[in-house]
This record gives sequence, C-alpha cells and structure tokens, in this order.
Amino acid sequence: MDTHKIINESYINKLLEKSKSTSKEDILNIIEKSRDCFGLNFEEAACLLQIQEDELLDIMFETAKYIKEKIYGNRIVVFAPLYTSNECRNNCLYCGFRAANRDLNRRTLNVTEVVREAKAIEVQGHKRILLVCGEDKGKTDVDHIVDSVKAIYDGTDIRRINVNAAPMNIEDFKKLKNIGIGTYQIFQETYHRETYRVMHPSGLKSDYDWRLTALDRAFEAGIDDLGIGVLLGLYDYKFDVLATLIHSDYLDNKYSVGPHTISIPRLRPAHNSALGEVPCPVSDKDLKKIVAVYRLTVPYTGIILSTRENSKLRDELLELGVSQISAGSKTNPGGYEEEDREATQFETSDERSVDQMIRVVTKQGHLPSFCTACYRAKRTGEAFMELAKDAHIHEFCHPNAILTFKEYLLDYASEQTKRDGEALLDRELNRIVDRKIKEETVKRLKRLEKGERDLYF
Ligand code: SAM
Ligand code: SF4
Repeated sequence: MDTHKIINESYINKLLEKSKSTSKEDILNIIEKSRDCFGLNFEEAACLLQIQEDELLDIMFETAKYIKEKIYGNRIVVFAPLYTSNECRNNCLYCGFRAANRDLNRRTLNVTEVVREAKAIEVQGHKRILLVCGEDKGKTDVDHIVDSVKAIYDGTDIRRINVNAAPMNIEDFKKLKNIGIGTYQIFQETYHRETYRVMHPSGLKSDYDWRLTALDRAFEAGIDDLGIGVLLGLYDYKFDVLATLIHSDYLDNKYSVGPHTISIPRLRPAHNSALGEVPCPVSDKDLKKIVAVYRLTVPYTGIILSTRENSKLRDELLELGVSQISAGSKTNPGGYEEEDREATQFETSDERSVDQMIRVVTKQGHLPSFCTACYRAKRTGEAFMELAKDAHIHEFCHPNAILTFKEYLLDYASEQTKRDGEALLDRELNRIVDRKIKEETVKRLKRLEKGERDLYF
C-alpha cells in the first residue's frame, strides 16, 4: 500500500495555502451549508481552519452547537481510562512512559489487579472503560489485553471496554474482535512524516506506515468501530486536522464506514518528557475551533475529550460538539487504588470526581449517558452509520441515556446530584416525541426503581 496516497502532504499544503485567501462571504456560505448536516469537503474544512476573527468564530461555534444538538441531542457519554501498564519500549519524546525515562516507577498489572482497578472505576458509576497501555512485547501484547478485557467483563459490571493500544497484525486484531471490545482507538500523533520521525526516534512506533495502516488491518480483522486522532501540539494543527479528516474519508470510502470517533488530545506536561516546550502550541481558542471544524465537517463522528483539559475549557467544549468525556481519570497503572505521580503518563487538568462532573454537566442542561447498548445490540460500523445518518439513532440513544443515568442516580450519586438529576430526567422524558417509546421508557424507569438493571433499547 502506498501510504503517500492516503496522506499526500503536498496536497494538504496546497489546500491550506489556497484557503488563506478565503473571503468572509465564502466562509459564511460554508458555515451556512454545514447546517444541513451533510458534512463539508476538505477545501471547505481548510477554509474554516483559517478563521481568526472572533465574529466568524462565534458564528461557527453557534453552528457547531446547533449541529451537535440536532444529531446527538444533549447527551454526553461518560467513560474512564484504565491503564494496565506503563512499560514501553518506544521513545516518544512527549510521553512519560518512554523507555528512556529511567525515573518512572514501572508496573504492569496482573489480571487480579486489573479487575481491582476496574471495580474501583465501577464504584464511581462508570459502565464504560478505555483500556490503555504502553508497548512492550511479552508484557503488554495482545494476550495481556485479551486476558484483561475478559477478566473485567467476567468480574465486574463494566459493560463496554474500548482499547487504545499499539498497532497489531491482523491475527492479533482478530483476538481483540473475538473478545468483544467496543472501539479500537489509535492516534497517529502527527500525520506530518518528518515531525513523526523526530518525535519517535526508536522502537516499533518509529514506523509511520505501520501505524497509519493499523486501522486497515483492524477493519480486515472485523473491527468496524474505530477511533482516530492526533496529539495536538506536535505539529501545525491545521495540517494535522485536515490530515485526520482525509484519513477518515479514506476509511469511509474504502470500508463504507468512517471512524466512529475522533479524539482531541492536546500535549500535556509529562514526567521527564524529552520535549522542553510544546513544539506547536494550540491555544484554547484554537482547540475550540478544532472541535467546531470537526463537528461541521464530519457531523456523525463522535468527538472525545479527556481530562487533559481543565474544567472551565471542558465545560465550554461540551457546548461545541464534544460527545464523549472521560471523568475522574488516573493515568498510572493502579491509579484508582493508589496515587503515584512518578508512574503517570501525563498530568491531568480536570481533577473533578465523577459525581462533581455529572453535577456540572447536568446543570448545563446536558444529559449524562452511561449507555453501552449499540455495541451490545450490534449497532456498530455501517449499521450504526446508517441509523445515525437517518437520525434514527436518536430513538435509541435518548431513552438509553435516560435509563442509564437513572441507574447512576439510584446506585452512585450524591444526594445533591440525585436531586438535580431527577429534575433533569423529568424534563428529558417530556422530550421523547414517540408516544410508545415514552411509555416504555416510563415503565422501564419504574422497573429500575424496583431493582432491575441493564434495561436498554
Ligand atoms: N502506547 C500506545 C500508543 O502510543 O499508541 C497506546 C497508549 S498511549 C498511552 C495513548 C496516547 O497518549 C498516545 O497515543 C498519545 O497521543 C497520548 N499521549 C502521550 N503522551 C502525552 C502527553 N504528554 N500529553 C497528552 N497526551 C499524551
Ligand atoms: Fe509508549 Fe505510547 Fe507513551 Fe509512546 S505514547 S512512549 S508508545 S506509551
């Protein structure tokens, strides 16, 4: 496979160069066009990435909010990462886990410890985990991941496990598929080859092409629920956002289904990072623009935000199109049981507990969702996209969000959150348009109150 055909740098540079001279009128027309929710092409996305004026940014932000509301309603899916290992043979300059960091307290959890961590996450109210690890053959390979996933499904009430791990061959991806993971997520970090080479000086990860083609192999192994992203701050964000959209489009054309999610990790200070400073800083304003451009260009792709960002910015980004957030996160293996700053991957910025986070989200009028139904009802890949594009996904997601939020309120919430949450649930019930679904949702809420669990459409 000629990967230069997937990511053609001179084409991206030409798009960016040409877009610099876009008139205000043309930008307004592109933003207006996006309101149909059919998405935008690369030329149009490039023009939006060039916006600097606050007036135009505000119009784009308002439109992102409109599209998010139209496609996703006010739901926000909540999850937590579980780090199974910080052992790694790569040397990504920006990461605390890099092999050359001799001061890191290294640890790979055994299966019992993984389940203990998952339980510690579960008692916060989570149902969805993102499993994360370094890349160290023999320690964090696919068998460790498979054993961990299996043990969590068997030993806890966690209902969906997504995985963020190093690229694999097709055989190994098949093992992940067979164990029933949700999304397989991998970030290209930067699509700019020269920057990639500098940032990844040694280890298996230094092979750009092996990483770029990971999602092709995952698809071929039958995993059709995939997540992509770049590590913002390594290279010019305009180039990398455009390249992410191009990669997404390539997958969509080839496999009839694009990535399910795009993540927007921004470089954070890491314990003993080899980077003195952020090579290409991305300001808060830039990050808001990036979220809005993604929302307008690929309206049906979920956007994931982590606790790398501070609470104020996270609250603002939620308005602009983010559809999933992590909460109460730790980035060291064993971190939910014991704090060890000398074992973390990077510093988190939003230290709020899940309950605090849920209260804020609720106050803003968002509906927290712990739903994991789609993947268990086999609504993934092409099936999911068809439903999403016809907006039918709303019919499942909204009542499922209500039901899983109710479970959270019954089992885990503080008194204050319960009060705010119940008021929100009353309002949300009244927003269900279909009479039959509303009646069924009311019935199921009663069944939850009587002690039943895990009811979904
Ligand atoms: N080791 C695997 C890999 O690199 O693909 C998977 C897990 S890695 C721990 C997950 C992601 O963390 C990386 O893809 C990278 O984008 C992100 N990351 C690494 N260092 C970071 C930092 N200092 N700030 C923010 N995110 C970082
Ligand atoms: Fe290892 Fe991943 Fe960190 Fe790179 S980003 S050093 S591969 S854990």
